[in-house]
Amino acid sequence: MAFQIVSSQCTACGACEFECPSGAIKFKGETYIIDAKKCTECEGAFDTQQCAQVCPVPKTCIPLKH
Ligand code: SF4
Ligand code: SF4
Repeated sequence: MAFQIVSSQCTACGACEFECPSGAIKFKGETYIIDAKKCTECEGAFDTQQCAQVCPVPKTCIPLKH
């Protein structure tokens, strides 16, 4: 499982990039993206997903749907 960034809502503020313990968030094109292969959902590092925690835009860092 992984989180994803809803690109249409991301303001590219960059806050999430530095909070991710897995180095899974990068700037690409006009928005930030989460590498689903690297995202650990912060398991073992934090109790809550740090990207969702710091993101100023509600419902922008959300669980990836399968
Ligand atoms: S859930 Fe955690 S590991 Fe996954 S992208 Fe967000 S901050 Fe990084
Ligand atoms: S914290 Fe939210 S708005 Fe800022 S770059 Fe990350 S996903 Fe985009």
